Amino acid sequence: MIRDQEMMTAFLDTVSSFVREDLIPSEEAVSEADAIPEPIVKKMRDIGLFGLTVPEEFGGLGLTMEEESLVMIELCKASPVFRSLIGTTVGIGSQGILMDGTDEQKADWLPRLATGEVIASFALTEPGSGSDAASIRTSAVRDGDDYVINGTKRFITNAPHAGVFTLMARTNPEDKGAGGISAFIVDAKTPGISLGKNDKKMGQRGAHTCDVIFEDCRVPASNIIGLKEGRGFKTAMKVLDKGRIHIGAVCVGVAERMLDDALNYAIERKQFGQRIADFQLVQAMLADSKAEIYAAKCMVLDAARRRDNGEDISTEAACCKMYASEMCGRVADRAVQIFGGAGYMAEYGIERLYRDVRLFRIYEGTTQIQQIVIARNMVRAATA
Ligand SMILES: Cc1cc2nc3c(=O)[nH]c(=O)nc-3n(C[C@H](O)[C@H](O)[C@H](O)COP(=O)(O)OP(=O)(O)OC[C@H]3O[C@@H](n4cnc5c(N)ncnc54)[C@H](O)[C@@H]3O)c2cc1C
Repeated sequence: MIRDQEMMTAFLDTVSSFVREDLIPSEEAVSEADAIPEPIVKKMRDIGLFGLTVPEEFGGLGLTMEEESLVMIELCKASPVFRSLIGTTVGIGSQGILMDGTDEQKADWLPRLATGEVIASFALTEPGSGSDAASIRTSAVRDGDDYVINGTKRFITNAPHAGVFTLMARTNPEDKGAGGISAFIVDAKTPGISLGKNDKKMGQRGAHTCDVIFEDCRVPASNIIGLKEGRGFKTAMKVLDKGRIHIGAVCVGVAERMLDDALNYAIERKQFGQRIADFQLVQAMLADSKAEIYAAKCMVLDAARRRDNGEDISTEAACCKMYASEMCGRVADRAVQIFGGAGYMAEYGIERLYRDVRLFRIYEGTTQIQQIVIARNMVRAATA
């Protein structure tokens, strides 16, 4: 749903100029330094990127899913590292508070998240629990008006910058499954929290992940999202459902960028006395990529509109995440191929994007987990 086409077009133009004038020119430096310069972060704040999904009453832009998807497609024409800094605050880090938080919890955190003053992270994965997220072992034991949290969270995006964690922990040790899990809002300054070293990753240099370790960390019971124990896994899954459309849009944006780069290169580069863009085998790679990006974009926008209409989009969101991330990997591979030897060299940038996008098939549910979600929903619907 697009609420005001004129305002949306103006906002997309602003994002597009930011991408062209600030983000793309600094991509290489960001990767070299493994950090996003402060002036760029400030501009992200000024444009309102940290508040894209926060409702207007809390100081954000309150974008619908369709609007958010369009912004992500535009923003991700620059390195996905930039999106990563706002991504957890706009998405998985804050959405639990927004979806299931009490009015007080929302009023407490959302205004500071919307301005980018506070960065939010989502802490679900553990050393022994990834795809099998319901098996987490981090414990939260009630003690008076507090819970005492112990455990380690792994690969947590933006943890080194986070001011707040949406943390999933087991409040009921008797229930080893999803029903024993609660979601907490944890101020990152709470005593008992320490961070591991930044992970050395395959790509996305400039975006940071690390372990988050909780040792006898005391959190007030009033910080349970929605003040109800045992609902944390449901909250996490709702957050991830929405996140899957978001990641689908991200994949479309980066794929469009890689295909643009490959097309420009194919038009400039000459072999056998002609542009390589005129060879039909190169054209096949361009055409396959174009068609697949178009398909993914249609899927993402359709799922987004359905969500905006209040439909249950669990299956569609998983389809978007699975198809768009796999598509993005294929487009990255073809783009490197079209660049030939230059595609393997750092100075052309395409090898960096190739490494960056590998992540999309892994986090927020691997491709195999999306397949399981889609097929399980199909079987359930057919046998209901
Ligand atoms: C850069 C990065 C950032 C991340 N950010 C966050 C974050 O902010 N917050 C957070 O909580 N987590 C985060 N994660 C964790 C991420 O979500 C997990 O890595 C992911 O869900 C996969 O879990 P795993 O790594 O434990 O792999 P595993 O679950 O061990 O999976 C390994 C392989 O087995 C397959 N597999 C597992 N189960 C099945 C099955 N039932 N059927 C078929 N195949 C199966 C998987 O598909 C995969 O191919 C991040 C990860 C990375 C790499």
